Amino acid sequence: MAMEVISPRIRGFVCTNAHPEGCAAAVRRQVGIARAARPAAPRGGTALVIGASTGYGLGSRIAAAIGHDMDTLGVFLERSPSGSKTGTAGWYNTVAFHDAADHAGRKAVSINADAFSNATRERALDRIRRELGPIDLLVYSLASPVRTHPETGQSFRSSLKPIGRAYTTKTLELEDSRVHEVTLEPATQEEIDATVAVMGGDDLRRWMDALARADLLAPGVRVTAYSYIGPQLTWPIYRDGTIGAAKNDVRRVVDELDAQLRKSHGGGAWVSMNAGVVTQASSAIPAVPLYISLLYQVMGDLGLKEEPIHQMVRLLNDHLAPGAIPAPDSDRLIRLDDRELRADVQARVAGMWREVTTENVRSLCDLDLVKREFQQLFGFAVEGVDYSKPAETESPIPV
Ligand code: NAD
Repeated sequence: MAMEVISPRIRGFVCTNAHPEGCAAAVRRQVGIARAARPAAPRGGTALVIGASTGYGLGSRIAAAIGHDMDTLGVFLERSPSGSKTGTAGWYNTVAFHDAADHAGRKAVSINADAFSNATRERALDRIRRELGPIDLLVYSLASPVRTHPETGQSFRSSLKPIGRAYTTKTLELEDSRVHEVTLEPATQEEIDATVAVMGGDDLRRWMDALARADLLAPGVRVTAYSYIGPQLTWPIYRDGTIGAAKNDVRRVVDELDAQLRKSHGGGAWVSMNAGVVTQASSAIPAVPLYISLLYQVMGDLGLKEEPIHQMVRLLNDHLAPGAIPAPDSDRLIRLDDRELRADVQARVAGMWREVTTENVRSLCDLDLVKREFQQLFGFAVEGVDYSKPAETESPIPV
């Protein structure tokens, strides 16, 4: 027992603690959204979600388990609670997910360990073999700043930089609502290579090879990895930057896997282009939080705004759940960013982007909404939670 009154400890784009009850309430809300969108006859099956504890990966796991009656194995890297330190949000999200999966009668297995390591892969294969059965759906939703290579032991750190030339952009400080310009120097070749080593397709390839060798891929298995295109104004830092280079590598690996899985299992692999949303990963990218603040305003005005769970429900229902027929675009990409990239949405955001300054940012968009969504990632500012009461921080993830 460790009962504590918990207030957010936020520094810039990092929150160093989390609220267990707020995380649980946020997960319950997502579970409700997935349940409301259940198809008439879910087909079940087994899903492996790598990066399953927050953001798009958590949404995928909830959509699979609650919306499609799938048993799930979630792999993630989160800090457990200890002493006076709370666990991370992904820890408490997973505790709450297990609760929801239990209530729904679904098996849920979680592995809190470095997904890049061979030892974690071996543990996952063992649990799949003993407790779950072959994988029908693999979701790769890892977002990590670092990777230790499983063969060489070399450590790589990714960077968020433009390629070729410096890039000057507006950016937003969430703490004091200041809009200012930053200039980002171009990445060196070493930095580009390191970002590809961390966020590129090599690790997904290793997971798929290990599952295939162990004969743990079900007939018709489907694989997806997440990426982002975004609007032109973020291209120098995203699509055409170091992270974009890594995402191109993911796409290359996914296309290779697709060709193989079609022959070997009658399955397939697709990159899903998801929309820009506030998550722990996206908040760290220069220019992106300001862009997302303006985007949320426009999408809210037009009734188009979606959270990760809404998109993941669409992804499963319309494309990837067992029985659904994938409907990618002509480049073989599944497009969940269709609403974000609508011409009318982007025209309005681009106009606001040109105008936005520290002085007018609050009149152009609802910064409080973005700040609230950021806090909600960590279980704070969640409706219905009494933050003046002590909360139990020591909740365990079932093993
Ligand atoms: P996130 O930070 O919310 O989630 C990252 C997940 O990866 C967490 O579950 C975390 O525990 C896990 N993780 C990190 N390092 C790990 C490690 N070494 N071993 C095991 N697990 C580890 O991120 P997100 O924004 O949901 O991003 C997920 C994917 O979606 C990424 O590929 C990202 O590029 C993509 N995407 C994000 C956005 C966006 O706007 N957030 C848009 C489109 C695509």
